[in-house]
Amino acid sequence: MKKQNLAWITGVIALLPFAYGMGATALIRKTRYRITQQLDERKGIALTFDDGPHPVYTMQLLDLLKRYQIKATFFVLGQNVRQYPNVVERMHKEGHQIGIHHDRHTSSWLLTPSQLSHEIKETHRAIVNVTGESPILYRPPWGLLNAATLFVTKPYQIILWSHVFQDWKIESCKSGLLEGLRNTPAEGSIVLLHDDGTNRGADDEAPAYMLDRLSIYLEEAVAEGVEFVPVNGLKR
Ligand SMILES: [Zn+2]
Repeated sequence: MKKQNLAWITGVIALLPFAYGMGATALIRKTRYRITQQLDERKGIALTFDDGPHPVYTMQLLDLLKRYQIKATFFVLGQNVRQYPNVVERMHKEGHQIGIHHDRHTSSWLLTPSQLSHEIKETHRAIVNVTGESPILYRPPWGLLNAATLFVTKPYQIILWSHVFQDWKIESCKSGLLEGLRNTPAEGSIVLLHDDGTNRGADDEAPAYMLDRLSIYLEEAVAEGVEFVPVNGLKR
């Protein structure tokens, strides 16, 4: 084989992992194919919470949502569902929508197609075991996709977000979260928040600060007549 050809082939092979993860994420998110990141033709804000359920923070959050009769959407980790089924049971009973995050908080960039499928199936199973209902929504951790995502997640609607405020960091909760929430358009936004801070890159106690700011915001927003809706049934 000519040296030139060998260099070319080596180059292509070296780039494959980037194409599989980063390239696929950029392409799919740019085309927005099967991706929902904004609500259409429906007034309101969808509050979505990732990474739970957490035995303390998710319960406090459910109390808060109940106070204002708000239905939200939770993207849960399968391992947490198995650990805290009572929290998910309550979530379901109180009318919130439950979608799939992953079984563990893993990046799709590091998962083979069969590992990705396993993450999703395990979480699906964990949710069904508690609620008796099949989830129809999927949100990948960090919003990262891979070249197999569209194929593996065919039965689900992929939900990203329009507004995120780094609420996994205590500092961001203190400095910009309340202002960010107040500035979120009341029509069609999908807000991403977190009810568990134990994952990589997050502060363990951040959900306590998130809950504090969210409760201030909800009191104001509900008084102003802002509507909050679960993601369910929304068009792409
Ligand atoms: Zn997450």
